[in-house]
Amino acid sequence: MKQRIVLLGPPASGKGTQAEFIVSSFGIPHVSTGALLRAECANGTSLGKEANRWTHQGLLVPDELAIRMITAWIAEHGTRFLFDGFPRTEAQAEHLYTALASLSAPLDLVIVLELGEEEIRRRISSRLSCLACGATFSGTLNSLKAGDACLRCGEKLVRRTDDQPAAVEKRLESYHKLTFPVIGYYERNASNLIYRVDAGRESDAVFSDICKLIQS
Ligand code: ADP
Repeated sequence: MKQRIVLLGPPASGKGTQAEFIVSSFGIPHVSTGALLRAECANGTSLGKEANRWTHQGLLVPDELAIRMITAWIAEHGTRFLFDGFPRTEAQAEHLYTALASLSAPLDLVIVLELGEEEIRRRISSRLSCLACGATFSGTLNSLKAGDACLRCGEKLVRRTDDQPAAVEKRLESYHKLTFPVIGYYERNASNLIYRVDAGRESDAVFSDICKLIQS
């Protein structure tokens, strides 16, 4: 079974949802750098305040900051992981390669969730998030609006500030410019580890493909 997995994909491609399925079926520890940053921000830490300068505009935080967070996470939790939202630039991918090589624990799977821009925009425009438990819901599919109670934990659902249209455009731009090349990086350096999955389908169908990859 695969134990060191990177989940790549554009905003709203379902990384968080699939990560939850993976955690509950395989028990692989999950870390979302975006969720870590939102928690830091909600707790008003200095790292959160620094990160908020970039995240609320839909820009990536500097590599150094993302690398600092992931290094601390590995030091605390070890080398079984599902990374969601990291690496997001080639420099972060290079750093991860070196850090894992020094621990003799190389990556064993890179999953790319693929989703077209029209569907990304459609999903984000109706997305509601719970900042307390990290769950996300489609406002249209679940007949929910901002301020309603989270279906999982009961806290208030909000529209993420970076889910507003201007920030979404910036995030898509960052994805194309900075994160898309990470796929190329793995294709060049680890072509035996990288698999593409069509994320435009029902989440159960997507997960069924992912299960096969993790178990192979
Ligand atoms: P999404 O994938 O839906 O855009 P995430 O929750 O993964 O959302 O990330 C939210 C924001 O957090 C990103 O837009 C970016 O500002 C910041 N972020 C998360 N991970 C990284 C990273 N590895 N490097 C730089 N910025 C990051």
